[in-house]
Amino acid sequence: MKIDNSSALFERAKAVLPSGYTRQMVVTKPHPLYVSHGEGCWITDVDGNRLIDWVNNFSAQIHGHAKAEIVEAITEQASSVQSTTMPSEWEVKLAELLVERIPSVDKVRFMNSGTEANIIAVKAARAYTGKSKIAKMEGGYHGQYDLLEASYQPMPDAWGNIGEPNSVAYHPGTPQSLLDEVVCLPLNNIDAARAILRSRASEIAAVILDPWRLQVGMVEPQQDFLEMLREETEKLGIILIFDEVWCLRFGYHGYQGATGITPDMTTMGKIIGGGQPIGALGGKDEFMSVFALGEDGVPLIKHSGTFTANPMSLAAGYTAMELMTRDAFDALDSTNDRLREGLEAIRVDCELPGVVQGSGSVSALIMTNIPITDYRTLAFAAASGLLEKLGVFEKALLQQGVMTLRGGFVGSTPMTNDDIDFTLNGYRKAIEAVDKTHPG
Ligand code: PMP
Repeated sequence: MKIDNSSALFERAKAVLPSGYTRQMVVTKPHPLYVSHGEGCWITDVDGNRLIDWVNNFSAQIHGHAKAEIVEAITEQASSVQSTTMPSEWEVKLAELLVERIPSVDKVRFMNSGTEANIIAVKAARAYTGKSKIAKMEGGYHGQYDLLEASYQPMPDAWGNIGEPNSVAYHPGTPQSLLDEVVCLPLNNIDAARAILRSRASEIAAVILDPWRLQVGMVEPQQDFLEMLREETEKLGIILIFDEVWCLRFGYHGYQGATGITPDMTTMGKIIGGGQPIGALGGKDEFMSVFALGEDGVPLIKHSGTFTANPMSLAAGYTAMELMTRDAFDALDSTNDRLREGLEAIRVDCELPGVVQGSGSVSALIMTNIPITDYRTLAFAAASGLLEKLGVFEKALLQQGVMTLRGGFVGSTPMTNDDIDFTLNGYRKAIEAVDKTHPG
């Protein structure tokens, strides 16, 4: 694999960006591959390496790259108006689409990222309930908001009691007063989480969780745990927020449609932007009323923003979402079922430990026999070599022209059976290569 042009760019980057990067999540050794262009599910770097893209910008690119209809929508919009204070019809159209599809959504507000959607969701929940604390799962990721970063990847010596996890800073300098506003819940531990919610209900404004999988597909909230959260929050006057920034790609009605559990508010992002920056908060009328003008003409939450609801993101997002019909979701899922079955068959054939898991258009190689049920068991598996092994496979797959992220495969609609065969073939060759260089 040629890397000369990427190496040269990285040398320049190190002079002007800390360690040469802007995005921590894409840090790779010895350096990243710099993109040249993409087409469908393929992406080409500046050295001419052509890779099948199973990362899809952390799941945002549901149609892969340069989808003709989206390119056309963006081009037309760019040659008309890129940003303005005036609302556009796209805002109404994308809101109508989300209201029609996502069970918990009667009304929508747009933002520019998933992080921002979660920030505004927290404000809304606080304004509605008059309470300040937010409950989240230990290990849950909700973007770059310091409040919700509490207990994302805490070190074992800070964990605290398993039934009552500590709220731990992710970054140095996080104020203790802010950590005190977070109540950490142990994922999938129904009795302990219920007890915490009951005992602290008078302080907790909202519970937020990604209802699908925490930590890049590794840990799955169980259905009965989600049901308990729905039941308890409703009884206790706590707002239940599903962070569907990632998992809205799970189906036509989002992940909530698949579970049959309807939260009070839903945060969205990624796929609803069609490749442009976006975030959105949706919810029942009652909860979204905090954004509506009161009798005095002033809302409880004065949400705004220079690029909020910009027509470029909305045009791309509406076009992308309109293309995601029920049939398009079914086709995407069945291509990815084929991938999962193929990866698992090769795993068994090559006698690798673990399992290939996932659902819908996202799959993960879990290369360990340690059962992963919550953040702590994941951290234990990671410390026992799982992350290292996934890193080795990520590199070996890249050599085969298959771009993945830490064992995760996120599909896109242009992928065909030939693309799956290419990927599976690459996986088998990657295993052989790893066996040679890392025997045992
Ligand atoms: N919530 C979840 C569940 C996410 O996966 C992410 C992004 N990976 C975010 C929030 C943050 O979204 P963004 O990167 O658009 O700020």
